[in-house]
Amino acid sequence: MVSKITKKPKPSPAKTRNLRRHKKTPISKTASVVVASINKSIYTCHRRLVKIFSKLVRIATPKNKSSKKKGYKVLRKYDNDNNVVSVRRSLFQENSIPLPPLKAPDLKTVVLDLDETLVHSVLANGLPPPGGYDFVVRPLLDGERVTFYVVKRPFVDEFLEFLSVNGFEIVVFTAGIEEYAALVLEKLDKKGVISHKLYRASCKECDGRFVKDLSGLGRDLKRAVIVDDNPNSYSLQPENAIPIRPFVDDFGDVELKKLMDGFFKRCDEFDDLKDAVKSYVSESVKLIDEGVLGDSKDSNYQALIEV
Ligand SMILES: [Mg+2]
Repeated sequence: MVSKITKKPKPSPAKTRNLRRHKKTPISKTASVVVASINKSIYTCHRRLVKIFSKLVRIATPKNKSSKKKGYKVLRKYDNDNNVVSVRRSLFQENSIPLPPLKAPDLKTVVLDLDETLVHSVLANGLPPPGGYDFVVRPLLDGERVTFYVVKRPFVDEFLEFLSVNGFEIVVFTAGIEEYAALVLEKLDKKGVISHKLYRASCKECDGRFVKDLSGLGRDLKRAVIVDDNPNSYSLQPENAIPIRPFVDDFGDVELKKLMDGFFKRCDEFDDLKDAVKSYVSESVKLIDEGVLGDSKDSNYQALIEV
């Protein structure tokens, strides 16, 4: 996310470390502690309530043996352990991020990465703003207000608009922290076409890397694809992934237009979007091999042949 446009002095590690994908943040640690504490409180409160109600029931139940005949029923003994487990599972399960049901059953789901896929952000760091930036966000990070200049990828507005009116549910899933990414999405999504926003806390951590597990979204994976510039993000479902070249400052970039015309306008021909991905990727690789499109030395070529 931090650009090569930024020159000396280099960004303070304290300001940038929380935006990237490589380390778990103090915020997420704090969130875990808070969740654990809430779980413990619920467990304690739940146990106390059960005791109180048990006593009340004993007091209120007639001791006369003929009571059963008058309509009273003997309740089954309360299974303490099993109920505690179910309460704990139903609340705050870590990395449990099923989305709300689809608004319409025929919608297909597009999961989009944010940084270097839809936008590129440059840390201000006291330097003059880079030319061509679209907007500014000032998240509060580690108690300090930090300024980022955000550049939108060419065709991003048209891309989002196209998806929203052509039967796609748009989910932005970023490994960036919410404090930063939510502000960027607020400015990017002026028309409110993004249905769901997921941040770093919804990623899984595998070998110190953040992974976006599509199986946790509650969507049919035959009707879902992810577009991401980082192959680590889709390592659990590469067959659903469309790799995209990272966007930094190339204002002649046409990747989103290419995706729109080459994949999203044609994927209706396939019952399973995984087959659509396979067809699109093999066609892209062929075009690169023939020298018609892109460069085989490009990192995106490697990502394409690995899918
Ligand atoms: Mg990215």
